[in-house]
Amino acid sequence: MILRDEQERMTNQPDFEKMKSNLNVYKDDEGYHRVKSRFNESSLPTKKNPLLLPESTNFTKLLIKDTHEKCLHFGIETTLAKIRKRYWIIRGRKDVKNVLRKCVICKQFQGRTMKSPESPELPEF
Ligand SMILES: [Zn+2]
Repeated sequence: MILRDEQERMTNQPDFEKMKSNLNVYKDDEGYHRVKSRFNESSLPTKKNPLLLPESTNFTKLLIKDTHEKCLHFGIETTLAKIRKRYWIIRGRKDVKNVLRKCVICKQFQGRTMKSPESPELPEF
């Protein structure tokens, strides 16, 4: 239901038709908008025709955050690759970047190291 709602809101946007032809979007038998990929003949279970999702919505951000946590706080490329196995987020890289920039756990590990204290003057001898 959430996916349908997200896609419904996306179709009401004025530039949807243009984007639809750019991304080669079609509606499947169940009524979901999917991006046609080149993996149709593949035996891969996923990645075939990912579901289209709008950019920068709360659902999209939660999905990115969840995927990022499930892949153990890996970087932008890994998180995006994991997401694209099932979903195609419009301008997804930008959204993933924004979510990862705000990740507290990543910040803790990538934070700056402490500066060494200033050394005192040398003694006379
Ligand atoms: Zn993180």
